[in-house]
Amino acid sequence: MTRIGFIGLGTMGDPMAYVLRDAGFDVIGMDVSADMRAGFGGAVAPSADAVAQADVIVTMLPEGKHVAEVHDALVRKAAKSDALLIDCSTIDVDTARDLAMRAEAQGLAMLDAPVSGGPAGAADGALSFMVGGSDDAFERAQPVFSAMGSKITHFGGSGSGQAAKASHNMICGITAMAVMEGFALADAMGLDLGKFYTLCAGAAAQSWTLENRCPIPGVVAEAPASNNFDPGFAVRLMAKDLRLAQAAAASSGQRTPFGAEAAKAFTAFAETSGDRDFSAFYTTLRALPGQSQD
Ligand code: NAD
Repeated sequence: MTRIGFIGLGTMGDPMAYVLRDAGFDVIGMDVSADMRAGFGGAVAPSADAVAQADVIVTMLPEGKHVAEVHDALVRKAAKSDALLIDCSTIDVDTARDLAMRAEAQGLAMLDAPVSGGPAGAADGALSFMVGGSDDAFERAQPVFSAMGSKITHFGGSGSGQAAKASHNMICGITAMAVMEGFALADAMGLDLGKFYTLCAGAAAQSWTLENRCPIPGVVAEAPASNNFDPGFAVRLMAKDLRLAQAAAASSGQRTPFGAEAAKAFTAFAETSGDRDFSAFYTTLRALPGQSQD
């Protein structure tokens, strides 16, 4: 049976590790936090011993610096010589390429495989994976991806999964600002916002963000706006992803003026409202019905 060392049992990692266990993999969960370990049966603190037992090592950590730290201090030192490394964290393209190069220099295959779909997609085994790395490594990882995801796209060499994720999330951030501004303008001119939503949902302004993150409470029952802006996808994560897109734009020399504006706006909003859903950005533009403006 394939043994998977899963490092990072947080909001996403914990349900992903459970899905892998349910699919029949032997999963050794690892996390620095005792609280997180308590949620996943048999989980241990990250150690050379645990890493050395794994055929596949999955990392699901907050940022590039955490993935680099775990790979430098532990994974490359302790992994079996034929282990497959899969990093599912959302990190910058340059760190993803650098870590893959270091792994490959000692004969280890590594894939960058960030996800979209959130905790619900993770719990349902319905994540979308954006994958970068060699064809061989991608083939070897198929059973692991298929257990956790429903859409798996191999974009090319190392870093291309993170490149796809950064570009995709930049579209989401810019679209979010467009949706919020559109509703603010419609409200400022006294339109019925329920009717305005129905218009947009059936016309050219339709988007995932509109249908899932309409910022007016009560218009879309399941949207975070109808539930105190509980996330969903937290402002701090949106801000982080938009900054990663800006780092990618800088290192590839591409101008992204709307992406830059979105990164600036969400980063500033995260200072006061990092844990709310990103659609709460609306409250920086306009008061909600029955409330004074933030
Ligand atoms: P999280 O903060 O909930 O979990 C991260 C886990 O990593 C924590 O349990 C933490 O204790 C652990 N950790 C930190 N440093 C560690 C180390 N050195 N060794 C072992 N464990 C360590 O984060 P999350 O929401 O699960 O997100 C993980 C990644 O997935 C991030 O890169 C995020 O951007 C991305 N992502 C998140 C979502 C989402 O909706 N939460 C969606 C898509 C992608």
